[in-house]
Order: sequence, then C-alpha cells, then structure tokens
Amino acid sequence: MAYAPLELLAKNTAHERLREERSLRQRLLKYEAITEHAAIGIALTRDQRFEHANPHFEQMLGWPRGTLSGQPGHVVWRSRQEHAAIGAFVGPLLARGQPVDFEHEVVRHDGTRFLARIRARSADPVHPTRGGTIWIVEDVAEERRSVEALRRAHAELEARLGESTEALAEASARLRDEIAGRESAERRIRHLAHHDPLTGLPNRRLLHERLEQALASARESGRSVAVIFIDLDRFRTINDALGHAVGDALLEAVALRLADSLGPGDTVARVGGDEFVVVPAEPAGANEAAAVCARLLECLSQPCEITGHCLRVTPSIGISVYPRDGEDPETLLGRADAAMQHARAEGRQCYRFFTEPVARAPADSLQLGNELHAALSRGELVLHYQPRFALARRRFVAIEALVRWQHPRRGLIGPAEFISLAEETGLIHPIGEWVLGEACRQLRQWRERGFAPGSIAVNLSARQFRTPELADTVRRIAADAGVDPRTLEVEVTESTLMQEGGPALATLQALATLGIRIAIDDFGTGHSNLACLRRWPVHRLKIDRSLVRDLPANADDATIVRAIVGLAANLGLRVVAEGVESEDQMRFLQDVGCEEGQGFLFAPPMPAAELERRFAHRGAMRELCTG
Ligand code: C2E
Ligand code: MG
Ligand code: MG
Repeated sequence: MAYAPLELLAKNTAHERLREERSLRQRLLKYEAITEHAAIGIALTRDQRFEHANPHFEQMLGWPRGTLSGQPGHVVWRSRQEHAAIGAFVGPLLARGQPVDFEHEVVRHDGTRFLARIRARSADPVHPTRGGTIWIVEDVAEERRSVEALRRAHAELEARLGESTEALAEASARLRDEIAGRESAERRIRHLAHHDPLTGLPNRRLLHERLEQALASARESGRSVAVIFIDLDRFRTINDALGHAVGDALLEAVALRLADSLGPGDTVARVGGDEFVVVPAEPAGANEAAAVCARLLECLSQPCEITGHCLRVTPSIGISVYPRDGEDPETLLGRADAAMQHARAEGRQCYRFFTEPVARAPADSLQLGNELHAALSRGELVLHYQPRFALARRRFVAIEALVRWQHPRRGLIGPAEFISLAEETGLIHPIGEWVLGEACRQLRQWRERGFAPGSIAVNLSARQFRTPELADTVRRIAADAGVDPRTLEVEVTESTLMQEGGPALATLQALATLGIRIAIDDFGTGHSNLACLRRWPVHRLKIDRSLVRDLPANADDATIVRAIVGLAANLGLRVVAEGVESEDQMRFLQDVGCEEGQGFLFAPPMPAAELERRFAHRGAMRELCTG
C-alpha cells in the first residue's frame, strides 16, 4: 500500500478551503442582495458600533447612504444612557441565544424620533456573544398611522353609513307622511264627493245611494220607506238681507238641529241651497212619517241665535212614501219635492203628503204662466178690498187693494198662486200698473159717490222696484185717475227693502216726496235692521199675521209684538196688526198700544161693490160696532 505524499495532502486542503470560501462569499452576496433590497431596516452591530446597515435602515433613520457604518450604536437612541440601558436589557438575553422583540422610540439623524418595532438577534447563533447583533427595525409609527387612518376611514364609513341610514329613515318617514297625506286627501275627496262642504251632511249623491239601499231592503221585507223633503221658508230673504255668512251659519244651525232631532240610523242630506231630505231608518208609513214631520216642524221653527240676530226660519215639508208614491229614488224625491211645494203654497210651516193633484201642480203652474199673459188683456184680474180699522173705536180708516184672478175654469185664484209667477215672467210690471190704476179708479169712483174710505193701499213687489221710473209711473197713474197722491199708500215687504237696496230707497223717497205714504208689509217675518227703518221714509209698520195668530197665548209672539209697537212709537211710525181674527187678539193689541188692525174679525177682502154696500152707509158703522 502506497501512501500519498504530504504535499499532495496540503494541496488538497488548500483547495477545499478555497472552495468553502467561494461558497461562503456567494452566500454572503446572496444575503447582501436580500438585505440591500429588503423593505425593512436591517443592521449589524458589533462592539457597540454599526458595522453594516441596509439602505432601508439608513433611509428610515435619515442617514445618507453608507454613512451609518462605523457610527457608535447610541446615535439611534435618545442618549448614551438609554443605549446602555437597552444593551443591559438585550445583551444577556442574546447571550443566552434568545431573540428579543420590543418597541421603542429611536432617533433619526436630524434628531426627530419615531416609534419602532425592534427585533434583535445574535448574528452567530452558535457563538452568540461573538458574531455581533442583527437589528431588524420597522417604523411602527408609520404602521400606526396606517392603522389609525384605517380606523378613521372605518369610522367615517360607519358615520356615513349612519348618516345615510338616517337619511334613509328620514326619506322613508317622508314617504310614509306623503302616503298618509295622500290617503287623507283621497278620503277628503271621497268625503267631498259624498258630502255637502258647508254642513258636512250627505249630499244628493250619497242620499241616492242610501235611499237605494233602504228601498232594496224594504222591497225584501215588504215594508214602506218615507222620503221627507224640507225647504226653509224665506231663507233667501235672510240670505239676501243679512248676507251669506249669516245665511251659511243659519244653514249649519239647521243641519245641526236636524241631525240632533233624528236617530243615528236616519239619513239627513242637504240637496240644495235651503233644501234638506230626511229618510228615516225605521220603516215608516204615513203615520210614522207624519210624527217625524211634526217633530221636525217643532224643532226647526224655534228661533236661532246667529251672530246677534234672532232668526226664525220655518220649514215647508213634503212627504212621499214607498211603494205608494214611487219605487225608485228619483220618483220619490221628485214627489216629496212636489208635496213640499204644495205645503208652501198652502201657507208654509206645515207638512203635506204627496197626492195626485199635487203631481199635476207644476204642470198646472206652467200652464198658468201661459194663461197669465192673456189674463190681463182678457180682463180676468180683479181687485178685492179689505178695510183697515182703528182699533179703539173700530172705525174704518183705509182700504187695501188685493189682486185676484178670476180664472175662467179654475175660479178665483189668490195672489199667492200667481204673483211669484208674474214676478218670474216680468208680468208683474203690467199687472202692478193695472192694480194701481184700478185701485185709483175705484177710489175716485167711490169719492164721486160720496163714499170716502180715507186712503187706499196697494202692494208693490220687489221686482217693481227694479225699474227706476216706478215713482214716475205711480205719479202718472194717480194723475190719470184724478187721485191725489196723498190718499195713496204703498205696501212693500221688509225683504224688498233689504234686497233692492239703494235704488229702492231712491224710489221710496221719490214716492214720499209725492205725498204717498209707505207701509212695511209683513213686518216681523223678514229681518229689517233698525238702522234702515230710520233711514227709509217709512210711515207705517204692518205686523205680520203669523205674529198675531197665536196671540195672546204665545208669550214669545206677545213679547215681539209689544217690542214692535214700542219700536214704532219710538220711530214715530204707526202700527197695523194684520190677520186679526179674534176679540182676544184685538184686546191684547189694544192693550199694548197698537192703533190699527186688519183681519177677518172686521172684514175679509171683498169685491168693491160688496165693500160699498157694507160700509158706504151709516148702517155699516153700526154693523161693525156690533161685530
Ligand atoms: P198682504 O199684503 O199681507 O195681504 C194680506 C193677506 O192676508 C191677504 O191675502 C188677505 O186676504 C189675508 N188676510 C187678511 N185678513 C186676514 C185674516 O184675518 N186671517 C187670515 N188668515 N188672512 C187674512 P191675499 O189676498 O191672499 O194676499 C196675499 C199676499 O199677496 C198679500 O199679502 C200681498 O203680499 C200679495 N198681493 C196681493 N195683491 C197684490 C198686488 O196687487 N200686487 C202685489 N205685488 N202683491 C199682492
Ligand atoms: Mg199688503
Ligand atoms: Mg201682509
């Protein structure tokens, strides 16, 4: 066995070391490449000095590239003492081969500081005290800032989210409100479509529906249904005279009274200006309906206190009954209306059932209108005369002319049936002139025969005051008839004065200037205001017969009549009571100081010849005195 020579052995060993060194260098280069480009700071210290620091370390601590190597370790701490203290804390741990992780403030080259996360390791794990220390440093402040920024962004996001949730909640609340608003508007519209806006009562449409229902169930059960049509007498006068606000308030008060006096199931509807319809819930035949109407009459006729006015509107009521008078709402309503018109024609403040003659009435009135045209020229109009008496001595003091129509087929028709027709058609002008001329002619004729009934009064309707030449016409007619205007009197109603206003005042003044006396007719039913009475050239008040009718028993009426007489005395006016029918009435009137009266107790209206016969001779006075 041959042994290798010694030089060969030495040669081999040198060769191996060279190889090892080369691989070590390559490893170092690799590590260097890694540390050079690392995104964290890495430094190596040995014997309290920096031996190497990678670019990130230097940049983080603000040292120019390559200047930290060789610097003492304390340059990155706040002081030498701190450096020593950290060394005292880290050194022993590293010596035991333990890595050390901690956070601490470090100082940049320019003296500023930042918080760093620091990891210290021994460079040589086998000989920890020899190989130096590797420091891995990260800027925690930067990280903290990022975390803080992240937290803020998060908080902001949450806040925004909160805000938008709030906005969302607000929007949905608005939407809810809007929906509720819309629903209530729809409800309002539905309500308006079915109710009268002034009184809140069902309107004609809803009435129709309810009536349909009532009729359907009545059909099934074989019962009857009453339809009650109510119209307020003279409502228009109040409306015109006192203004729409008072009129409206009155309608509301009436609606309230109707609702109060009826049961919860009964229907009460407003179907026109001053027209109401009641359909009782209980099946009602004629008797039950009459009882309801009597109750309604009573409650509606009570005076109403409205903005200082004590108003009294009475109703005219018409009734139709299913199935007798009709089977459908239209017919029943129409017939109840016709019955109401009938009640009105019969003197108002009463109720009437529908009957077949009532059904013919509207057609009749149409025909009557046509015939009225011809009546004048045919000489069918006649005047009746009713005397007026001084109560104290029952002395006959004047005469009122009242027109009638001697109809060829229907007999004598009263003015209530055709004056409003004449007003509507304008015929009131020629009729009014004829009445005046005829009354004047009659007066002159009586005079010529030695019968001197004081003065003669004629009624003028509101429409006549719309022609400005009325005073002139009256003067001419009186002159043509050869009658002294001072023996003439005109009667106008309160509502005429209220309705016609200024122009009527001028006419009245012109009439008064001619010496014609002016009387207010039907006083106490309208709503004259006292200021007017002072302003207007009025000579006489005629107390309406509705106020006289229940005297002396009716305490309210008694009070009113007493007040009117007192008022007239204050204003220097004379007073006449209309419709005096009984001795009791007359005594009461005398007691309260009423001077004159007119009425069936003394004499009804009668043709001229009869009046002359009864009163033109001395015996007539005796006849009167003995009643
Ligand atoms: P008025 O001027 O108030 O006339 C009084 C009415 O009462 C008359 O009715 C008369 O017949 C009635 N009367 C008189 N005394 C009594 C009584 O004791 N008891 C009762 N229950 N009634 C009595 P008439 O004649 O039917 O006249 C009604 C209304 O027609 C008149 O009321 C008047 O406003 C109007 N009128 C009458 N003639 C004319 C006229 O020529 N022109 C105008 N525009 N209207 C007239
Ligand atoms: Mg009169
Ligand atoms: Mg009268």
